[in-house]
Amino acid sequence: MSVRVRFAPSPTGFLHVGGVRTALYVWLFARHHGGTTVLRIEDTDTEREEVGAIEQIQRSLDWLGLDFDESPRVGGPHGPYLQSERSEHYHAAVDRLLAQGDAYRCYQTAEELEVARAEARQTDDPTLPTRLHRDLTAEQIASFEAEGRPAVIRFRTPLEGETVIEDLVRGQVVFEHRLLGDTVLMRGGGRPTYQLANPLDDLAMGITHVIRGEDLLSSTPRQKLLVEALGGTFPQTAHLSMILGADKKRLSKRHGAASVEEFREAGYLPEALVNFLALCGWSWDGETELMSVAELIERFSIERVNAAPAVFDHEKLAWMNGQYLRALDTGAYTAALRRYLEDAGSPLAGAARLDELVPVVQEKLGAFSEFDALVGSLLESREPDAESWQKLLNDEQAARILDAATASLSVLPAWTVDNVESALRAVCEELALKPRQAFLPIRIAIVGSTVAAGLYESIAFLGSEASLARLQHARAALTDV
Ligand code: GLU
Repeated sequence: MSVRVRFAPSPTGFLHVGGVRTALYVWLFARHHGGTTVLRIEDTDTEREEVGAIEQIQRSLDWLGLDFDESPRVGGPHGPYLQSERSEHYHAAVDRLLAQGDAYRCYQTAEELEVARAEARQTDDPTLPTRLHRDLTAEQIASFEAEGRPAVIRFRTPLEGETVIEDLVRGQVVFEHRLLGDTVLMRGGGRPTYQLANPLDDLAMGITHVIRGEDLLSSTPRQKLLVEALGGTFPQTAHLSMILGADKKRLSKRHGAASVEEFREAGYLPEALVNFLALCGWSWDGETELMSVAELIERFSIERVNAAPAVFDHEKLAWMNGQYLRALDTGAYTAALRRYLEDAGSPLAGAARLDELVPVVQEKLGAFSEFDALVGSLLESREPDAESWQKLLNDEQAARILDAATASLSVLPAWTVDNVESALRAVCEELALKPRQAFLPIRIAIVGSTVAAGLYESIAFLGSEASLARLQHARAALTDV
C-alpha cells in the first residue's frame, strides 16, 4: 500500500515552529517512501479562523520548499481539501452513525452541562456528564423536540474495554473507554467538530499515517472508534513531542522568532531552517548536523524520531544558517540576498552593485537581516548613526587621523583593496597609533557607524571620490566643534 500522509493545519494564525516541524516530517516521510503528501485545511471552527491565514500557511510552505501533491491550491482526486467545503460528507456520516445507533442527539443546555460537571467532580465518574442523554426515551426526545431545544450529536463510546494505540513514536498507549466520555461530533446548527471532520477526512482521503503533535494524542482513541464504527481502518499514528525553548519551557514568543514568517523576515535561508527543524526531534546518526534536503529525504525515518521533547536552540539555528550562507556560491548567494531584500521591501534590492559586495559580506553575515546595518551605507548615502558620530566628535585624535588618511589615500595610484590597506597602515605608522585607534574615526566617517564590514574593502568598494568626500565631510564636522 502506498504511503499517503497529510498536514492538516487549522487556519488560526501563522505557521509556528511546532506546526512547521510536523509539516516537514509529514513531507520527509512521504518523500522517503515515494508516497503522496496532502495538505488539508481544517477550517470548521470559523470563530477561531484568521483572515489570510490559509494564504499565509501556503506561502510559508512554499518558501520552505514543502510541496504538496494534493491541496486546496492544486486540487486532487480526494478534494475538496478545505473542510468548509466538505460538509455534505460529514452530514452523511453522522446520519449513518445515528441510524446505526453509534451516535445520538443530546439536548443538554450549556447550563445543564455545567451543573452536571460540577456534580461529577464529587464522583469517580468524571465523564458521566457527557452521557446523560445517551438513552433518552421516545417521550423525552419528543418533549425536547417540542420545546425546540437544539441538539448536538454525540458518539456512543463503548462503556467497557479499551482502545490500544501502537504509536510509531510513543509505543503502546492504552485508553480506557470509560474515561473518554461521549465525544461531540456535531454542534448545534450542524457544525462538525474536529473530532468528526478530521478522522472522516483521513478515511475519505486514504491517509495511511497520521503524523501530528502529541497534544492530539488524547483524540486518537476517539477518532479510531469513530472510524471503526464506519467500517474503516484507522491509520497508523506518529505523535511528535513538543518543542521547548532553551529553558525547557514550552516554546513561545518569549524565546524569540517562532513563526516561519518571522524566520523569513530575519533573513534565514529556507534550507537552513529545514535542516535545523529536521533535527528538532529526529537524528540520523546522532552526530551529523548538516544535511541537504536530498539527504534528509533519504535518511528520514519515524523510528529515529525521539519521544522526548525537542529543544529549540536559536543559537544552533544561527550557526547553521551561517554555515549554509558561507557554502553558497557567489551567484546563488547574490540571488538569495536579492530575494530577501525584495521580500523585505528594501530599496537595496535594486542596487546595481549588490553583487560586488558579496565577497565583502559572505564570511560575515549570520543572517541576511544583518546586511543592511553592515553595508547599507555603502550602497546609498545615509545619515550617520548618532551615537557613533558622537564618538567621532569626542575623539581628540580624529582631526589628525582624518587629515593623514585623506593625504595618504588621495595619492594612491590605483584604488584597490591592497593599496587602500597600505595607505591606511602608513597612517598608523606615521601617527604611531594602533589600527584599532586610528581606524575608528575613519570607519565612522566612511560608513557612519562603528560596525562595518572590512574597512579596506568598504573604502575600495566606495571608490575614491565618495570615500574622500566622506572623509572631508567628517573632517568639516570636527572643525565646527
Ligand atoms: N487541525 C489540527 C490542528 O491544527 C490538526 C489535526 C491533526 O493533525 O490531526 O491542530
